Amino acid sequence: MGKINKLSPYEAQKIAAGEVIERPANVVKELLENSLDADSSSISLIIEDGGKHLISVTDNGCGMSSEDARLSIAHHATSKIKTIDDLEHITTFGFRGEALSSIAAVAKLTLTTQERTSLEGITLTIEEGSICKETASASLAGTSIAVHDLFYNVPARKKFLKTKETETRAIMQLFQAVCLAHIAVHFKLISDSKLVYNCPAVTKLEDRITQLFDVALNNSLIPLNLTEKGNICISGAITHHQHYRYDRNQIFLFVNRRWVKNYKLTSAILKGYANVLPPQKYPSAFVFVTLAPYEVDINTHPRKEEVQFLHPRAVEQLVTQAVFDTLEKSVLASRAQPTTMPSFFSDQQEKKPQPTIPSVFPPGTTIQLPNVQANRPNGFTNEQTTISLEMASLKPKNYTFLGYLQKTFMLIEKEEGLLMIDAHAAHERILYEQFGHRFQEIPIVALIFPHIIKLSPGDMNVLRPHLGIFEQHAIQVEIFGEQELRVNATPVSLQKVNLDDLFRQVVGWINEHQTIEQSLFFKSISEKLRALMACKAAVKAGDNLSVQEMQQLIDTLEKTGNRLTCPHGRPTSWLISSYELEKKFKRT
Ligand code: ADP
Ligand code: MG
Repeated sequence: MGKINKLSPYEAQKIAAGEVIERPANVVKELLENSLDADSSSISLIIEDGGKHLISVTDNGCGMSSEDARLSIAHHATSKIKTIDDLEHITTFGFRGEALSSIAAVAKLTLTTQERTSLEGITLTIEEGSICKETASASLAGTSIAVHDLFYNVPARKKFLKTKETETRAIMQLFQAVCLAHIAVHFKLISDSKLVYNCPAVTKLEDRITQLFDVALNNSLIPLNLTEKGNICISGAITHHQHYRYDRNQIFLFVNRRWVKNYKLTSAILKGYANVLPPQKYPSAFVFVTLAPYEVDINTHPRKEEVQFLHPRAVEQLVTQAVFDTLEKSVLASRAQPTTMPSFFSDQQEKKPQPTIPSVFPPGTTIQLPNVQANRPNGFTNEQTTISLEMASLKPKNYTFLGYLQKTFMLIEKEEGLLMIDAHAAHERILYEQFGHRFQEIPIVALIFPHIIKLSPGDMNVLRPHLGIFEQHAIQVEIFGEQELRVNATPVSLQKVNLDDLFRQVVGWINEHQTIEQSLFFKSISEKLRALMACKAAVKAGDNLSVQEMQQLIDTLEKTGNRLTCPHGRPTSWLISSYELEKKFKRT
């Protein structure tokens, strides 16, 4: 008896579909590309529950005849190529004729379509890969495809779908990429009945970028030089050296208008910024590589997300060169004008603002502490007790304060010898330990003018499910609008810290930690936020400190756990023992 079974076509198709369709964003990509291939000038995308429940794309393209509509869901049915040789001159996104058949194998489909020249269209209802209902319909010319309950019949795959927010994030990024590559098309995205993006046709890439991201980004954009070498052309827009993000999510790469993920090309862009941006900071970049179709193989990846170049090094070098030249020109131009832009070729560091004189605990500061009565129900309430914290007059106890070396190191005479303490490292450790306490115990201050943080729809979607992390660190934040957060209170020590930057950093971490398991993710982001808050709020080398403030720092450090190192592992203090000193001077 033979062991080999021939799978039924439907089972085989469900398995094969996994190559093309792994998650809702893949369906969105295929449907949007079909609409673009159909020459549409207006495309609307509706999703529900991150695309898990519904993905619907409606276009005003050429539509299909009834006969083509029935055929479109068949395996290897395409109107775009006839033989593999056609791939050398392909100008459409699709060509394999397997997207609709794959989607039909793993979801329920409704397809309505009508040709521009017809008076009547057709609606097909498709389940388990075949048409189960067909009705004549009169609608506007174009096509509308609704995909319901993705993977309803493939539980093994359904369980790998991520949270609604994560799937929405992937769809949003894909949608942004498609919008960027087709600025003459009007796109809309509606998620759970809310209009997230409305991008009417524009003529300039910069305008499309403004429609999709925050307005601040537009002010930082410089057009990418059109550098041509042979038949390769690099164009687009990148941000100048004073703008940065904490993640790579706004680096978009297109090859012949296809959005691709190419590690080497992304590195090539970053290389162009090598001496310009500090480590771990990334630009926003919208880079279009255009080259002859025979120079690039687009048929190497099942979802066409990767491409292979005939001359990869040449393309990479050209991308780096284009970015480098563009940045250089922009800086030279800004130098010619009487502005205060820092030079980045001679001095890579951003200019630091002159330090104001920070106090560890400003004398006489009125701070508000959450009510910490032992019997307080359920932890934090809005009820607050106002107390006045007067600077304690600290008397040296078992040490003598000697001085402040290079506005960095506090020098202390102790019985055992000379103790040197790095003021920043010490303060950082103190704050880090403080932020590790239950947040009810952290002194907080209600902001007289709540701080509004403006975010792009994409960044808002990233942060929304994680606002609890801020609350845990005594940063009281609430959703204020579709694209705005309102910070109402922060720990006292964070009063002078740039909150926009802090929130942007957290967006970056969340984006970069996407693949980490949930409990580790939360722990890791919390740890990072705690360390960042400590670092940002701590006094900096070069800051002026009063003797009293330094004494308070020293005394607080004495009482702090893990006081020998800062949260990054650098030592907070060094002791040169009396014995060592005597030995140096040959007194022993
Ligand atoms: P491919 O795009 O690789 O040809 P698909 O399975 O995505 O394969 O689509 C099959 C065919 O259905 C396409 O070749 C096209 O003729 C037709 N089609 C799909 N979507 C649309 C649309 N939105 N408008 C017009 N025709 C479409
Ligand atoms: Mg297609």
